[in-house]
Amino acid sequence: MSAEIDCLFCKISAGQIPAEIVIETVSAIAFRDIDPKAPTHVLVIPRTHFADVTELAQKNPNLAGELMSIAAEVAKLEGLSTGYRVVTNNGEDAGQSVSHVHFHVLGGRSLSWPPG
Ligand code: AMP
Repeated sequence: MSAEIDCLFCKISAGQIPAEIVIETVSAIAFRDIDPKAPTHVLVIPRTHFADVTELAQKNPNLAGELMSIAAEVAKLEGLSTGYRVVTNNGEDAGQSVSHVHFHVLGGRSLSWPPG
């Protein structure tokens, strides 16, 4: 399992920085976003460090699928029966602010589309 020394989400995965965990597996972790943009806002990350979706898809597409399953499980646990959004910001133009791939699971209210 690789970890980047200065990566915030590697530190959360390792338990070095606290987070409100929703689901934990051997290879992934889901925890509440510190600055929620919806009543439910959970981040799903792999424990192994990948900078973004491009790197994850190239190096471990099976893990990408597992992260989607966890996102669906989060939605079920959080009772998002009327809908939810799974979104990932990939790179600068998309506004990615943490360079450890993560999927936002958002729900609990009507979500506008398209995003800004
Ligand atoms: P992005 O801008 O798509 O890279 O998403 C990064 C997300 O990480 C933002 O929604 C932040 O609110 C969230 N975030 C930053 N620091 C923490 C933290 N310590 N615990 C939980 N979420 C965080």
